[in-house]
Amino acid sequence: MDIESYNKNLFHFLHTSPTPFHAVANTAEALRKKGFIKLLETEPWHLERASGYFVVRNDSAIIVFYTGDLKPWETGIKLCGGHTDSPCLKVKPMPELQNNTMTRLGVEVYGGALLNTWFDRGLNLAGRLVLRCRGKNNTPCLASGLINMDAPVAVIPSLPIHLDREANTKKTINAQEDLPPLLLTGAFSKPGALNEALLNAGKHIPDAGHEIEEIMGFDLFFSDAQPPFYAGLNKEIISAPRLDNLLSCHAALESLLLTRGTTPCLAILADHEEVGSETPAGARGSFLTDTLTRIVPDPEQRLRTFARSFMISLDNAHALHPAHAERYDTGHACLLNQGPVLKLNAAMRYASDAVSTALFRQLCQEASVPMQTFVMKSDMPCGSTIGPCISSATGIKTVDVGAPTMAMHAIRELTGNTDPHSLFKVLKQWFTTGAEPLLSLT
Ligand code: ZN
Repeated sequence: MDIESYNKNLFHFLHTSPTPFHAVANTAEALRKKGFIKLLETEPWHLERASGYFVVRNDSAIIVFYTGDLKPWETGIKLCGGHTDSPCLKVKPMPELQNNTMTRLGVEVYGGALLNTWFDRGLNLAGRLVLRCRGKNNTPCLASGLINMDAPVAVIPSLPIHLDREANTKKTINAQEDLPPLLLTGAFSKPGALNEALLNAGKHIPDAGHEIEEIMGFDLFFSDAQPPFYAGLNKEIISAPRLDNLLSCHAALESLLLTRGTTPCLAILADHEEVGSETPAGARGSFLTDTLTRIVPDPEQRLRTFARSFMISLDNAHALHPAHAERYDTGHACLLNQGPVLKLNAAMRYASDAVSTALFRQLCQEASVPMQTFVMKSDMPCGSTIGPCISSATGIKTVDVGAPTMAMHAIRELTGNTDPHSLFKVLKQWFTTGAEPLLSLT
């Protein structure tokens, strides 16, 4: 696949995945089309050789695997993983705030969002609803499904400079006061308007019965309504929402779809990384170990599998900011369009070490993709990823890598136009024939 068609596909995935639920639904749909079989956690599994499967938890995390020859205790499993969530604004359960004929929606900040970037932008509303409805024969039933307004239905207006003379020098943002997006004005601003809009949107949920009675619960998030676009005089930059970390999820999916080798392969796209991963769908939860227990039920074979396996943990890396080189370590600052970034940290906030570094370097060489190395400045704290969670829980040797990204955790982030495809090429190498001899080092 050439870079342009790869990016077109990525742009579509980003735009149609405003929440982790949508990212997982889109991933599942792509897998189904390629013949992967959906497994349910509630049912027995009967796995066959050389077959592709996927399993979803909480509608927001997904594990995809290809069984290969089904003896992972002899070969190990080639894993990769990313996260489906991004920093954003989550709608409160009783959100309507009304005054002066205007309706705003109360929100909580989800993850470490760069809040100033959320002002004056068209905000989409999307997420998951649980409905009580009337099913066949008029029997009451509960239905759960996704909604996506797919439009700029709200905005957070800035205070004009004339009323805030220090806005350019001393701006502070109070999440409680300043962030509730403006949804309705004038005659449209009536109590219950949001409920009505959600009931309307809920009619498109496939499992909803013929009559929706009540919204029983929701997980709703605001997101940037503007689709991804190219920036730069030569279109060398990608500007898009949720690059951290849907760029990686997309690369994991596209590469795993190409595997047909004998070594089992697996990708986990976990939720809740931006809030610490300690949930059933998060990387600190049991989703991966539960799934691996069912793939390799025998305890000793499973432990042998862990010891032979290798994981590429995917999460975006900080690219050098053009105005702030002083925030980056000399020699470890990475640039857009210069290849995937290997991330290391002495405190093991990233899981990479010499052995996993060697594996990644080997893969990049095999795929003819340049790579870069990032280390945080020694006087600044370092972020983390799902890599250390998974490697510490399972013992699986792990490397932390990702695409170079500017403006991380802004409502829109930047990466190079070649960067997503470069990451994909390395993962494709991993899931096909790449770095086989290095698995013996685990
Ligand atoms: Zn991330």
